[in-house]
Amino acid sequence: MTIDASLDAAVIGAGPAGLMAAEMIADAGLSVAVFEAMPSPARKFLMAGKSGLNITHVATPAELAAIYPDAPASLSQAVEAFGPDEIMAWMEQLDIQPVTGPTGRVFPREMKASPLLRAWLSRLTDAGARLHTRHRWTGWNQDGALTFDTPDGPRHVSSRTQVFALGGGSWSRLGSDGAWRAAFQAAGISVSPFRPSNCGLRVSWSDRMKAEFAGMPVKNVAVRFGEQASREEFVVTERGVESGAVFSLSLSVRDALEAAGQAVLYLDLLPDLSEDEIVRRLSKPRGKQSLSNHLRKTLNLSGVKRALLFEFGGLEAADSPDQMARLVKNLPVPVAGLFPIDEAISTDGGISFEALDDHFMLKDRPGQFCAGEMLDWDAPTGGYLLTACLATGRAAGLGAVRWLKTKPV
Ligand SMILES: Cc1cc2nc3c(=O)[nH]c(=O)nc-3n(C[C@H](O)[C@H](O)[C@H](O)COP(=O)(O)OP(=O)(O)OC[C@H]3O[C@@H](n4cnc5c(N)ncnc54)[C@H](O)[C@@H]3O)c2cc1C
Repeated sequence: MTIDASLDAAVIGAGPAGLMAAEMIADAGLSVAVFEAMPSPARKFLMAGKSGLNITHVATPAELAAIYPDAPASLSQAVEAFGPDEIMAWMEQLDIQPVTGPTGRVFPREMKASPLLRAWLSRLTDAGARLHTRHRWTGWNQDGALTFDTPDGPRHVSSRTQVFALGGGSWSRLGSDGAWRAAFQAAGISVSPFRPSNCGLRVSWSDRMKAEFAGMPVKNVAVRFGEQASREEFVVTERGVESGAVFSLSLSVRDALEAAGQAVLYLDLLPDLSEDEIVRRLSKPRGKQSLSNHLRKTLNLSGVKRALLFEFGGLEAADSPDQMARLVKNLPVPVAGLFPIDEAISTDGGISFEALDDHFMLKDRPGQFCAGEMLDWDAPTGGYLLTACLATGRAAGLGAVRWLKTKPV
């Protein structure tokens, strides 16, 4: 069954990128329908808000440019046109107060994504956009119409233009399963393989470490990988380490594992104490105390930090304050691999920018645009993922408007 042959624009994927594209099209007075595979929209966006929706990050243009390495001009321009200031102004228009944290991360005051999503969907409906859930896009038919699987059977949708915003390849249970790649590849569009980004790192812990410390946060620590360092905390899990510092370093760790087959993180367990001061404190007579107690009393090292130390060479350094201090300041933690891609916060890979023009339109499929995480760019967490999704969604939506207004019917 074919629906809506008179539709100006079909947006496929109701995540932040797709909804932003739909907003641009509806605001231009054009008809737009959003098609979403899941029973409800923006499930990954809602999940992102579970522990505080870090929607953007206050940054200068130069800082932003460094965040999206090797970004093509179109991505840089999109983020320049709709960056942190514009995102905060947009939130305010939705009656959502942005709050900037001490490190520049921006959150909605309510922290969750749901109030923002509710206000956004309501404004989109008022502007005339229609949402069709349980519509899984499967490709194009021989006439170029979009084909969907729905609970009522297959549907075909013809529209004058289309914006694809189908997401990356992680958290498939929320809809972002990357299955769309097959249809694009079959159409001859260049799609790079997905790789995990902002993911946990596997560490081969001893049984004791897993049993006693899985789930423990490691606070007040500095984590270094190559030239990069982070003062954020991280969490020890059964399989390795994740969150905060680990996510932000994981992009470089992933690249190093791919290039060299190995990667080692270095921890500074006491970043506010100098190595000399640690040596001085450790040189106090230990008497009959266990090494663990000595470390706890002289350095105030938490249980999980002591366990990390023992895990990676601390026992061998028991009788040498110099050696132990060096380890406390520079503890090597070998990385055994990455957590599975489906658990990653985001993925890189996807539609190659070479397949797109400056307006995010597929060069070989005029009138068809792509946006969001399905494009081949990468960024660390910190609000930069959503910033690029919203910015490219907006640019693709505006591209579709421009196309509709300039192309003869
Ligand atoms: C736990 C977690 C926390 C996060 N926290 C943050 C954060 O604080 N800050 C930040 O910047 N980023 C965060 N992210 C990342 C951010 O959520 C994503 O980068 C963002 O949602 C991607 O937006 P998108 O619109 O491109 O794709 P998605 O949000 O993935 O949306 C794509 C949509 O397309 C639909 N779809 C897929 N295939 C089809 C199909 N064949 N037919 C129809 N519909 C389809 C999907 O169901 C989905 O609704 C987090 C992610 C996770 C998992």
